[in-house]
Amino acid sequence: MARVIVLGAGMVGTASALALQAQGHEVALIDRKAPGRETSYGNAGIIQGEAVEPYALPVSPAKLLSLAMGADNAVRLTATGVLGQVGGLLGYLANSLPARHRKIAATYAQLVKAATADHDVLIEASGAGNLITKQGFRQAYTDAAAFGAMEAEIARLTRVYGVNAELMDSATLATAEPALKKPFAGAVHWHDAWSCASPGDLVGAYAQLLVSRGGQLLTGDAMSLKQVGGGWQVMSDGGPVSAEKVVVALGPWAPQLMKRFGYRIPMVRKRGYHLHFSGTHRLNLPLMHTGASTVFSPMKDGLRVATGAELAPMSAPANRSQLIKAEAAARELLDIGPAVEAEPWFGNRPCMPDMLPVMGEMPRHPGLWAHFGHGHQGFTLGPTTARLMADAMAGDSGPLVQSLSPLRYTGK
Ligand SMILES: Cc1cc2nc3c(=O)[nH]c(=O)nc-3n(C[C@H](O)[C@H](O)[C@H](O)COP(=O)(O)OP(=O)(O)OC[C@H]3O[C@@H](n4cnc5c(N)ncnc54)[C@H](O)[C@@H]3O)c2cc1C
Repeated sequence: MARVIVLGAGMVGTASALALQAQGHEVALIDRKAPGRETSYGNAGIIQGEAVEPYALPVSPAKLLSLAMGADNAVRLTATGVLGQVGGLLGYLANSLPARHRKIAATYAQLVKAATADHDVLIEASGAGNLITKQGFRQAYTDAAAFGAMEAEIARLTRVYGVNAELMDSATLATAEPALKKPFAGAVHWHDAWSCASPGDLVGAYAQLLVSRGGQLLTGDAMSLKQVGGGWQVMSDGGPVSAEKVVVALGPWAPQLMKRFGYRIPMVRKRGYHLHFSGTHRLNLPLMHTGASTVFSPMKDGLRVATGAELAPMSAPANRSQLIKAEAAARELLDIGPAVEAEPWFGNRPCMPDMLPVMGEMPRHPGLWAHFGHGHQGFTLGPTTARLMADAMAGDSGPLVQSLSPLRYTGK
C-alpha cells in the first residue's frame, strides 16, 4: 500500500485519512491548525441524514429579486462576493432548475443516506458517543401556510427517498421544547438526523483515532506542495514529508492550491456566522427557525446561533447583519443570556455548482487527489465520501465514484 499525505484536517480530510488507513495505507494528515478548527468547527453540528436533496439556489425571478434586495435573512449578497464567483453561481443556478436538481438529488441521496452509519463506526471507535444525540432535529415554522405545505413535502420525501419525518403541531412542539417562550405554527421533526455537541471536538476525536492506529498528525503548510520525482512533498514543521499520493481536502481553500497546478475550480463559498449564548434555558434538540433562516443548536459551549449564507470574498471582514437578526429571533424565543464570545465565528461552506462534492484523481497529475466541495453538508458527508475515495484509490470506478469525479470541472 502507498504512503499518502492528506492535506486539511477538517471533517473531510480527517475522515479521508482514517478511510485510507483502514485500507492499509500509511497516512500523514497535515494542517496548519489543530484538527477541526475551521469550517468543521463552526457549523450547526447536525449530521443531516434527512438532507437527501442538496440546497438549490432559488430559480424564481421574484425570489431572486427579494434576495438581492436583502429581504430574506437566508442570504446576504455583496457585489464583490457575487461578481468574484459569477461563473460558479451561474452554473449553480442552472443546476438548481427542477429537472437537473432531481437528477443531482438522486446521487446526493445515496451519499446522505449512508452518512449516519459511516459516522457511527468512527464515533464508536473514537469513543465520542458522549458528543452525539441520535434524536433528529426540528424545523419550526412561524408561517402557517408554509407549515401546512410541509405535509405534502414530507409525503413526497418519504415516498421518493424513505425519509423519516413527522409533523408536530404548535402544542406538541411547546411540550417537546418547554424553554420556548413563544409558539410556532408547527414544526417538522426530522428523525434521520443526529446532532453533535461540539463538531470540532468530534473531528479532534477522529484525528486521535488516526494517531492511535499509527497515523501521523502533522502541522504544515499545504501551499508548499510540490511534485518530486514520481511523488509529492509538503513542508511540515518537522521537515519535508514525502508520499506517492496526496489528497487535497482543504475545504474552501482547495481551489487556491489547485490553481497552482493549473486547475480552475469554480467553487462558490457561502459564508456563515455563529455566536454562542450562555443562558440556562436550553433546547433539547437543534431547532431550525425557518422564518429567521437560523439554526439554534444546543452545544457544549452554549446555545450556538448560526446564520444562513453570505456571498462575500473570503478576505472580507465580518458583517454582523444576519447574525443580529438571528440573535433577535433567538431572544424572542429563548432566554439565551449573554454572548459567550465578543466576536462572531465565521467560515465558508465550500459549494460546487452541481452541489456534489469533488472526489477523484486529477487528470494531469498522477497521485494528486481531490476531495472537497461538500457545501452545506460536509460535516455530514465527510466519512461517506472518504470511504468512497479509499475505494476509488483501490480501483473502484462505479457510477457513484464517477459522479463525483473532478473531470466534470477540469476536463481530461
Ligand atoms: C454556519 C454553517 C453551518 C453549517 N452547518 C452544517 C451542519 O449542520 N451539518 C453539516 O453537515 N454541514 C454543515 N455545514 C457545512 C460544513 O461545516 C462544511 O461542509 C464542512 O465543515 C467542510 O469540511 P472540510 O473538511 O471540507 O473543510 P474544513 O473543515 O474547512 O477543513 C479544511 C482544513 O484545511 C486547512 N487548511 C486550509 N489551508 C491550509 C494550508 N495552506 N495549509 C494547511 N492546512 C490548511 C484548514 O485549517 C482546515 O482545517 C455548515 C457550515 C457553516 C458555515
